[in-house]
Amino acid sequence: MPDRTAALQAAVRHAETYLSGLDERPVAARATAPDLVERLGGPLPEHGVDPVRVIDDLAVGVDPGLVASAGPRHFGFVVGGALPAALAADWLVSAWDQCAAFHALSPAGSAIEEITSRWVLDLLGLPAGASVGFVTGGQGANTTCLAAARHAVLAGAGWDVERDGLIGAPPLRVLCGEQAHATIHTALRLLGLGSGTAVSIPADAQGRMDPDALRDALATGSGPAIVCAQAGNVATGAFDAFDPIADACAAHGAWLHVDGAFGLWAAAAPATRHLTRGVDRADSWAVDAHKWLNVPYDCAAAIVAHPDAHRAAMSLAGPYLVADPGQRDNTTYVPESSRRARAVPVYAAIRSLGRAGVAEMIERNCAQARRMAGHLAAIPGVTVLNDVVLNQVLVALPGGDDANRAAVAAVQRDATCWLGGTTWQGAHVLRISISNWATTDEDIDRSAAAITAAVRRD
Ligand SMILES: *Cc1c(COP(=O)(O)O)cnc(C)c1O
Repeated sequence: MPDRTAALQAAVRHAETYLSGLDERPVAARATAPDLVERLGGPLPEHGVDPVRVIDDLAVGVDPGLVASAGPRHFGFVVGGALPAALAADWLVSAWDQCAAFHALSPAGSAIEEITSRWVLDLLGLPAGASVGFVTGGQGANTTCLAAARHAVLAGAGWDVERDGLIGAPPLRVLCGEQAHATIHTALRLLGLGSGTAVSIPADAQGRMDPDALRDALATGSGPAIVCAQAGNVATGAFDAFDPIADACAAHGAWLHVDGAFGLWAAAAPATRHLTRGVDRADSWAVDAHKWLNVPYDCAAAIVAHPDAHRAAMSLAGPYLVADPGQRDNTTYVPESSRRARAVPVYAAIRSLGRAGVAEMIERNCAQARRMAGHLAAIPGVTVLNDVVLNQVLVALPGGDDANRAAVAAVQRDATCWLGGTTWQGAHVLRISISNWATTDEDIDRSAAAITAAVRRD
């Protein structure tokens, strides 16, 4: 029998070393990609080596190029870590190596996605009859949802977009908040709708779409329309006002899509649920699992209130693809055919936390964002730019873009924590996201002290 587990045991040892040092290693990488190419590269190997050696060399070789983004003091982008149950379940997904496309290939894959779909809908307070596809990320979720939207609004105008494409189709209007995430525009591009054709609806100082402006814009035309709203602005954490937006969409028969990549998890916690009021009235929702639910990459949910539209946009057709009637074929809800059993880590995350644990994690991270904002506001001259309603904090230093850029670099060099910069209303500022299950209040205090010192020194 081949030895199937020696390399896995080596991987366990390296993972243990990595994870046990995660809380204390410098957050930033100590090497660049070209450094690592130098260490690990070389010509294509002519002959193989022992699997254990492959794993040992790999783990040691990449280590300086690893960012401790799964650790408790990485506040850049919106990343999250990996809950212990989710990480372990992810390893099992690879060990089982199921092709979780069809029931015929993995009843286990279908069952776990079915259960997890119901749990996610329940946690987020979304309609129980909605369909859920587990995709690679927010980008995949926005694209899948907007494909369902494109199907439905054009079908409403008597057009079969799956069969006939967009050439000659009735004109379709897309309206997005000014602050729509870049992945919405990529999705529109991929769907043949163009990233430049969307009507941009003005947003307020927190990044929230103006519902009156949306209503007026919808009223200037007629016919098929898709509106993209947002639950959780990537800079400020702000939420669009879903009730008036849903009213405007209903008046025009427009499809309402909500990009809730991280922010939609606010619906799972009593203290933040009010931010999402009315979000259940939308037609589709994109939500990441690999950000705030803290499962490993790549994982998100594309949720559609109209399963027929979801299936029409995504299902495969082919002579040997005989669906088992009454069984869930996961591929029916996603762009991929062969795919990993992506929902398994989501199942494990939710089972390990329960409804109460998910709520506690969300509420704790939000309280930590307020704590961080409080510390930073005490630095002379520093302004907290956003209403800290969720887990995002935007901070500006005096001295303009150069001073803010230098501060970001100084914090990254110090490596106690990691944060990034962003452009907000034309100025370069510091952006902090608190999205990790393992972050403690002590991590916040320690990071705030390091940021304060770095900013002063600089
Ligand atoms: C991160 C993010 C996305 C994209 O999600 P990925 O998982 O990176 O593809 C989309 N929208 C918002 C608001 C996000 O924060």
